[in-house]
Amino acid sequence: MKRKEFHLTTQAVHGASAPAKRNEPIAVPIVQSATFRTATMDEQIRLGADRADTFYTRYGNPTHSAAESLLAALEGAEAALLFASGMAAIATTLMATVRSGDHIVAQRELYGGTFDLLSRWLPRFGVETTLVSATEPDAFARALRPNTRLIYMESPTNPLIRLVDLESIVAIARERHLLTVIDSTFATPINQRPLDWGVDVVIHSATKYLAGHSDVLGGVVCGSDSFIARLREARIALGGVIDPHAAWLLLRGLKTLAVRVERQNDNALQLARFLERHPRVKRVYYPFLETDPQYPLAKRLMRGGGGVLSFELAGTADEARRFVDALELISLAPSLGGVETLVTLPAITSHAMLSAEERAQAGITDQLVRLSVGIEQGTDLVADIERAFEAL
Ligand SMILES: *Cc1c(COP(=O)(O)O)cnc(C)c1O
Repeated sequence: MKRKEFHLTTQAVHGASAPAKRNEPIAVPIVQSATFRTATMDEQIRLGADRADTFYTRYGNPTHSAAESLLAALEGAEAALLFASGMAAIATTLMATVRSGDHIVAQRELYGGTFDLLSRWLPRFGVETTLVSATEPDAFARALRPNTRLIYMESPTNPLIRLVDLESIVAIARERHLLTVIDSTFATPINQRPLDWGVDVVIHSATKYLAGHSDVLGGVVCGSDSFIARLREARIALGGVIDPHAAWLLLRGLKTLAVRVERQNDNALQLARFLERHPRVKRVYYPFLETDPQYPLAKRLMRGGGGVLSFELAGTADEARRFVDALELISLAPSLGGVETLVTLPAITSHAMLSAEERAQAGITDQLVRLSVGIEQGTDLVADIERAFEAL
């Protein structure tokens, strides 16, 4: 059986094990060991030099390898490498690719930790970043300098679910032989595969949809064999390695990735349609709504709109707070991508470090509510939201 012949949905379930072998556990075992024993010194030297996954767990581990080969298959990449968190994956990728004097072009609409890394930490090492609007490919082109080394994207964005036109950005980058990197956390390989559009490197916070149960932190980077080999050297030096048990939880989560994401796509679209018609709602941000300005791009790039949507409540900032407080089924918590529906007010949480003017410029009002939709029955979610509106 060649695994490549199967649909992504099937690969997610079977891709980490070897179906042809007999008398092996169905679940990949957790190799919870920091180090590995060898018979001879010669063998130990060889395993270390080969960066084998049976030498020392900061170099690699068999449970990591199982999750990595599955994730590479899901993204259509040659290889993948796991990290302790999404931020460890992003930071290590940047440390492995830029050096003092280099310039990065990135979009302004970035995950807060990434924004902090690019604007506060990398300048200390002589790396400058120009931030441009995610939805204007021309702005990326205009921001390029002779010392630009890479283009950094994130799509869909948080919290306004805007999409980056991957095809246009890749065309700009190829002309100049620049590396393209994307944080694809919100999309998952079920909804969008950036490598199919020519992007070089795909990063995920595996904490979110890939693991999917809000119980573990992890990150992953997918790319070519040669890129991942270099990244492994950087990970060995920087040390942001995932624990084998966490890698195993990620593997377990991946088996249901496709069904979870399909359900989340359906639930989010159902909620977006309900909210769009509601008198308590001023505006809904969800690219799979026919009324969304990016709907045609969304249909071209993505198989589903994903599980995150935002809306602007028609009312005061105080009413937005009272609305989220009144929700019962839906939990008030940061993070996203889990099986349970979560709600946040981005102005107070993810974007609190921006000034009021910066938030206004970014379209993040005090009335903006972000939902990470889970796999519950959609009608129960609608009822919870309706009840919280009525409580106002
Ligand atoms: C959560 C998140 C990260 C950071 O991931 P951690 O696992 O929390 O380190 C990066 N990018 C995006 C888009 C995220 O949502």
